[in-house]
Amino acid sequence: MERNVYISLGTNLGKLEENLQRVSAAVAALDAVRVTGCSEPVLTRPVGLKEQPDFLNQVQRLETSLSPEKLLVRLQRIEDEMGRVRERRWGPRIIDLDLLFYGNKVRNTKRLVLPHPQVWKRRFFLEMVEQIDSTFLQQWARQYASRSID
Ligand code: AMP
Repeated sequence: MERNVYISLGTNLGKLEENLQRVSAAVAALDAVRVTGCSEPVLTRPVGLKEQPDFLNQVQRLETSLSPEKLLVRLQRIEDEMGRVRERRWGPRIIDLDLLFYGNKVRNTKRLVLPHPQVWKRRFFLEMVEQIDSTFLQQWARQYASRSID
């Protein structure tokens, strides 16, 4: 069981608050997943492709017995079910679900990079994680520094 899993939910097409509610309900309904914390939703400027609407973003903390790879597959299934069209990288999307942290685990495969590389580049991700648990990032960094990392 991993208790420090952080995911980000983002949307910038259609009715943003409604999209966020629908995707939150889908995450909460996943087997073997429990939502244990949520940040406030925040409007953020797009990164990369700038000529597109702002995103409504939220970070949630999960507890799960799924492996990182299995959890990512479930999150991608939710994205597909909610009609996300994968067209342009960085482009507008009804829903974007990313796995930010899975405890202390580090991954660097084609399918999964952990922590999510964008976490260090977008201050709002870090701020939203801190809103949920003000000690997590410091603990993560401390463990990374002492390399007691999986
Ligand atoms: P994006 O369109 O930005 O959501 O990127 C989706 C692609 O990034 C998928 O092919 C995933 O396999 C890959 N990916 C790598 N690491 C992660 C991660 N930590 N969370 C979500 N997607 C990831």
